[in-house]
Amino acid sequence: AVILGIESSCDETSASICIDGEIRSNIIATQAIHAKYGGVVPELASRAHQQNIIPTVDQAIQQAKITKNDVDAVAFTRGPGLLGSLLVGTSFAKSFALARQIPLIEVNHMQAHILAHFIDEPKPNFPFLCLTVSGGHTQIVLVKDYFDMELIGQTLDDAAGEAFDKTAKILNLPYPGGPLIDKYAQQGDSKAFALPEPNIPDLNFSFSGLKTAILYLVQGELKKNPSFLDDHLYDLCASVQDRIVSILLNKLRKAAKITGVKDVAIAGGVSANSGLRKSLYEMGEKYKWKVFIPKFEYCTDNAAMIAIAGYHKYLKGEFVEQDIAPLARLNVVG
Ligand code: ATP
Ligand code: MG
Ligand code: FE
Repeated sequence: AVILGIESSCDETSASICIDGEIRSNIIATQAIHAKYGGVVPELASRAHQQNIIPTVDQAIQQAKITKNDVDAVAFTRGPGLLGSLLVGTSFAKSFALARQIPLIEVNHMQAHILAHFIDEPKPNFPFLCLTVSGGHTQIVLVKDYFDMELIGQTLDDAAGEAFDKTAKILNLPYPGGPLIDKYAQQGDSKAFALPEPNIPDLNFSFSGLKTAILYLVQGELKKNPSFLDDHLYDLCASVQDRIVSILLNKLRKAAKITGVKDVAIAGGVSANSGLRKSLYEMGEKYKWKVFIPKFEYCTDNAAMIAIAGYHKYLKGEFVEQDIAPLARLNVVG
């Protein structure tokens, strides 16, 4: 079956073609316009999606060397995300399906981040644990089957990606700050600045205290040395990244211990982080886990993950009607 996947939940317009479970194209139009505002501006995002959606889909179809007539079903992100952004992808998918009289498949964006692990080999075995770390979410999910997921831990305030982005803002770095902090951290000393690890019960997370600690640290030091940020940027980035990674992995280790599950995966934009990837491999060796880390292009928002999730729903015949509406809030459990 040929599945067209559409992703438009935030600030990436993406389209992908999946043929019999194999990704043949994955086109991502990133919206540069938000960088100067220090975050995603919803109104600008939906307008950019409207401009990008048709060329992005055309390119995905072209690169897969098929025509529109070959598409058997359309899968789209129903949520969670920005409503105005979701509406563009949803409306496009609906009209495409209606015009061609083919089935429509709704996909949960947070499930899709996890299902990105079923694009390439090696694929995890059920049940596996997935730490989903993205711009809006931080979750530990027990994945029992493609669409049978249990949320066993989550953030009580900021998401891990948000912690990276808000720290970047304090450090005067542009949005999105995660990739830049990652880059500079590689040249810094992670022990240079002591940052707190919050004491949060169960498998839950908190990142707002860390953000405040960094803010106070920077404000205090700037009073003594106005060029503090320039002088210590690399060490600051390394210290922050190291702390975020240790907060994440300490809970993941706890989850593996509690559940006894040894197939352990990460997903979402922050899973592109080199410090997290390296530390997870090390932890996996120590605890004899099978570790799964997505390819970079499948970490941040992409339509390949929507197409592969759609493919598995197609196999089960799980289709939706034309009256389907996007949902800004949608739990990973579905
Ligand atoms: P959600 O999936 O929760 O709806 P989102 O779709 O906006 O949110 P993603 O696209 O999955 O999030 O991820 C974007 C986030 O990933 C941003 O916060 C960005 O800073 C972060 N990120 C991307 N690359 C890196 C990296 N190398 N290191 C750290 N963070 C990163
Ligand atoms: Mg994004
Ligand atoms: Fe995402």
